[in-house]
Amino acid sequence: MAAIEAGTLYVVATPIGNLADLSPRAREVLAGVAAICAEDTRHTRQLLAAFGIDRPLLALHEHNEGEVAGKLVQRLAKGDALALVSDAGTPLVSDPGYRLVREARATGAKVSPVPGPCAAIAALSVAGIPSDRFCFEGFLPAKSGARRERLQALARESRTLVFYESAHRIGESLADFVVAFGAGREAVLARELSKLFETVLGDTLGAIAAKVDADENQRKGELVLVVRGCEDDAAADLAEGRRVYAKLVEHMKPSQAAKLAAELTGAPRKALYGGPATDSES
Ligand code: SAM
Repeated sequence: MAAIEAGTLYVVATPIGNLADLSPRAREVLAGVAAICAEDTRHTRQLLAAFGIDRPLLALHEHNEGEVAGKLVQRLAKGDALALVSDAGTPLVSDPGYRLVREARATGAKVSPVPGPCAAIAALSVAGIPSDRFCFEGFLPAKSGARRERLQALARESRTLVFYESAHRIGESLADFVVAFGAGREAVLARELSKLFETVLGDTLGAIAAKVDADENQRKGELVLVVRGCEDDAAADLAEGRRVYAKLVEHMKPSQAAKLAAELTGAPRKALYGGPATDSES
């Protein structure tokens, strides 16, 4: 039986699909703390019920975290052990909890992880794309302009990139990936990991976009996109040239913008007049 330390905040990872992935220690900690802070108390109550655990639940989500974190830290100071969980996976990874953890640590409370599932790491572990160095980018902006801008800024990144995306936006997002990174960039779309309809689709971004477009099943469920980093200096220059060109062209003629962007970035001037990247450019 895991010893529960008084005044400790346990940050507990929970399954991302398969309930059997809740670790024995996670079960013991959840059963032993004074209360569990949960993103959605109804959702967590169902998880706990599946394991016969009955502990008080406190709501902690993005809308009330600022308000309740202080009170929770007071409970820790009085000696209560608390657990923090999110709806699925590891709390704080595109999930609430950052403020609570920060405040707890600031007051000297012990904050201890109970590691377990995380969709980003699960996807990376099966992608077969270099994983020695990677960037977790979480969710892209929902609005297309901001999303394209973010992708342009990431197009030269040499480390593997990991994104979360919702099923209803994956089609338009993939189209933006193709424009920013080039159709030929290698990627893996990991869907419904650890669940019944798990699929791991590895191909070029262009081919993945086409498959997702053609097969509505690929636009269902929960998704992680892993994209290989930029390995080609010329492609990196071109991506940066396009990013700079897009900014400059708002203030000057396209020909001037292309000339200046080419000078600043080393990208070929002729390639900067817009239009999606092609395979040969990626
Ligand atoms: N904290 C969670 C974690 O550790 O993975 C992530 C929470 S975030 C709000 C939810 C997103 O994670 C989903 O939109 C999806 O992109 C990804 N995700 C969660 N479960 C998944 C699964 N079983 N398969 C693929 N992606 C998943």
